Amino acid sequence: MGRAFRYVIIGGGVAAGYAALEFTKKGLSHGELCIISDEPVAPYERPALSKGFLLPEAPARLPGFHTCVGANEERLTPNWYKKHGIELILGTRVESANVRRKTLLTTMGETITYEFLIIATGSRAVKLEEIGINGSEAENVCYLRDLADATKLVNVMQKCRNGNAIVIGGGYIGMECAASLVINKINVSMVFPGPYCMSRLFTPKIASYYEDFYKSKGVNFIKGTSVSSLVFNSEGKITGANLKDGRQLPADLIIVGIGARPNTNLFTGQLTFEKGGIKVNSQLQSSNPSVYAVGDVASFPVKFYGDSRRVEHVDAARRTARHAVSAIMDPKNTPGFDYLPFFYSRVFSLSWRFYGDNVGEVVHFGDFNETKFGALWRSNGCLVGCFLEGGGDDDYVAIAKAVRDKAAVADLGELETAGLGFAVEV
Ligand code: FAD
Ligand code: NDP
Repeated sequence: MGRAFRYVIIGGGVAAGYAALEFTKKGLSHGELCIISDEPVAPYERPALSKGFLLPEAPARLPGFHTCVGANEERLTPNWYKKHGIELILGTRVESANVRRKTLLTTMGETITYEFLIIATGSRAVKLEEIGINGSEAENVCYLRDLADATKLVNVMQKCRNGNAIVIGGGYIGMECAASLVINKINVSMVFPGPYCMSRLFTPKIASYYEDFYKSKGVNFIKGTSVSSLVFNSEGKITGANLKDGRQLPADLIIVGIGARPNTNLFTGQLTFEKGGIKVNSQLQSSNPSVYAVGDVASFPVKFYGDSRRVEHVDAARRTARHAVSAIMDPKNTPGFDYLPFFYSRVFSLSWRFYGDNVGEVVHFGDFNETKFGALWRSNGCLVGCFLEGGGDDDYVAIAKAVRDKAAVADLGELETAGLGFAVEV
């Protein structure tokens, strides 16, 4: 059994949705494109899963957050794919790939051939077992990567109102889930080994603001240690966690957010890898000219950094996807991808954005007792990064431009005094 398509996308996440829209803008014909996804639903905006989806009142639900609403573009419902003659093969995993023969074998036993392949398989959550802890299969241990995870989390949350949750990890998932748990009236302890939350991006001063804010909402931070094991009852449910420092915490719910790994196994030994991802050039093309990689799996040249990186954030997924499609369909008019790294988060009433790189010297600006403040990073005499909490659209446009232009910064003290004004005025 088999079918042939001109274009095939493996993975039906954020990048796949944005790629599909771009294909139609570039003149895709009916029957040319197929998307194979092991999720049972059409591509959706994954960030909604840790935000609107978890709200107790008027939660976000599909079809409301199918791509590409996150970038204020069309909402691609299953009907949209039908209307554009795009084959959506859902609930189906690609089990193996042969890039020399240009074939994919699915779990349904179908062989699919392509002329151009876009790999958009995203990431998976790191499991507790990978850090030596048993319990992933317990009914009240939750991860948050896909719709099934989010649905399980909502069900478990509903059963433990006013109960206790332990959030393992102080990164993106930890911070966003802890906020959602509080909103759902669940007591939260966050446990992570680092000295402060979001330690790969935040400065200690920025982290301290968010930790204080979370504490004011009742969150208990347990830093500098980690969970050593989970405590099970006779029915296999988790009732608590043992910490490496000897403490034991009660738990009705555990959320695990200890990092992600790119889903690249299908291509090991077939494509060139770099920094844990599939190495691509500035057209998102891999070491095999018929194969492109986008989103979380792609290690692409970031001119701004002067080297290649994988970026596990939604803006990169959207932009790499669009760019790869443009490079495939209209190569002559597609210059090399030029990406300004951009990350964001929204929790409680807070909302921050970060552009660029957090290297070199850093100064803070604004009033950390108020709602608008941030930090600026200088490296080699230039502005290279900006973090801003509570900004407006005009601020974000200004800081993105100042960072992209790597505006010259002669004096760090003056940068500190000017603060956000520096970005607005250059
Ligand atoms: P994904 O969106 O993960 O999609 C990959 C798809 O491929 C999935 O559908 C998967 O099931 C499928 N797949 C994998 N292997 C196979 C296979 N062999 N066969 C078939 N299908 C397969 N970033 C931000 O910048 N801001 C945010 O606020 C934000 N919030 C997030 C919240 C959550 C809960 C999560 C999990 C991530 C969040 N991110 C956020 C990160 C962002 O969502 C990802 O960087 C983005 O989704 C990556 O897009 P992608 O298409 O590469 O992968
Ligand atoms: P992150 O990499 O953001 O954070 C992982 C966290 O786990 C870090 O705080 C890390 O600490 C901690 N950690 C590592 N080992 C242990 C351990 N043994 N015990 C306890 N904590 C540990 O990953 P997440 O899981 O939070 O996020 C998964 C993916 O989802 C990422 O790709 C992320 O980009 C994406 N995401 C993005 C969002 C956004 O951009 N707004 C929102 C939600 C998800 P340390 O740093 O000290 O090593």
